Amino acid sequence: MEFNTTHPINNNYLLLSRAEDVHVSMLARQLMDVDFECTGCGECCRSHLGDNSVIVFPDEIQLIMETQKLGWNEICRPSTPQFMDSSGTFHSFEWELIKHSSGTCKFLQENCTCSIYDYRPWICRTYPFYLVFEYAQITPLLSISECEGVGAGSFSKESAIEMATLLKERIISEVKEEIQLLEHLNGYEDWVLVRNDSIEKGVKTDVAVHDSRGLILVSGHDKW
Ligand code: SF4
Repeated sequence: MEFNTTHPINNNYLLLSRAEDVHVSMLARQLMDVDFECTGCGECCRSHLGDNSVIVFPDEIQLIMETQKLGWNEICRPSTPQFMDSSGTFHSFEWELIKHSSGTCKFLQENCTCSIYDYRPWICRTYPFYLVFEYAQITPLLSISECEGVGAGSFSKESAIEMATLLKERIISEVKEEIQLLEHLNGYEDWVLVRNDSIEKGVKTDVAVHDSRGLILVSGHDKW
């Protein structure tokens, strides 16, 4: 999420109603025109194609915690902060799955399968597709990330409807998360934008993560 503190909540309620109006069968027809079949290459779980950060919401993290018997910090970490306040605390608005130093997702196994497959986050379930609201568009647009599965096969009608349903549920979930986050957010008037390259690597720092539950302070976070 590209967070914007001037984004009015009311606008998000409008986006929510538009997300809820997404027509699954029309979206499924669009998907069938794309020709896609997962090849199982696992590249989306590695960093070779660029940023492979998997953003996870609190309820997704909770599900992984319960099913995998893992602690919060064993699953995710604050995403790169976007703001810093006058006391020097960084502010982040998302959690992302932990990666190995190679950039590969912690949950990718040697045989290229996902160890949390049944409980994997929305982003993984819908890759390489996502819906995005472009300015002035009433219906969110279908977008596609880089993936060797595009053009490798074709959706059956059933799998296209299944993917379209997931995409609709995902964007509803994303907008709801942002609404709840904004409802809890305050004190940002003195924050300044931070650039990624201005964050000193390897230096432990505190980071305030804002999500649908409110503010969670992570002490001694050591790098992004
Ligand atoms: S959670 Fe599973 S599917 Fe998602 S990036 Fe990690 S290994 Fe891949």
